[in-house]
Amino acid sequence: MTRDDVKSCSFCCIIFHDPAMYYLHRSMHDKMDVRCCNLCGKLLLDKYDFTAHFLSQHK
Ligand SMILES: [Zn+2]
Ligand SMILES: [Zn+2]
Repeated sequence: MTRDDVKSCSFCCIIFHDPAMYYLHRSMHDKMDVRCCNLCGKLLLDKYDFTAHFLSQHK
């Protein structure tokens, strides 16, 4: 992805066409470690674990 208006989360392999949605998503990841949940600090294993954690804990 080289276009400026298309952003993606390399950790979750999700492509965002809306920058606002991208930044909202990135705010879920800890700045220092993308595997960490920014809301509760829990360390997740991978993107599946991360997504499942958010869906079950931070809906
Ligand atoms: Zn992500
Ligand atoms: Zn969490």
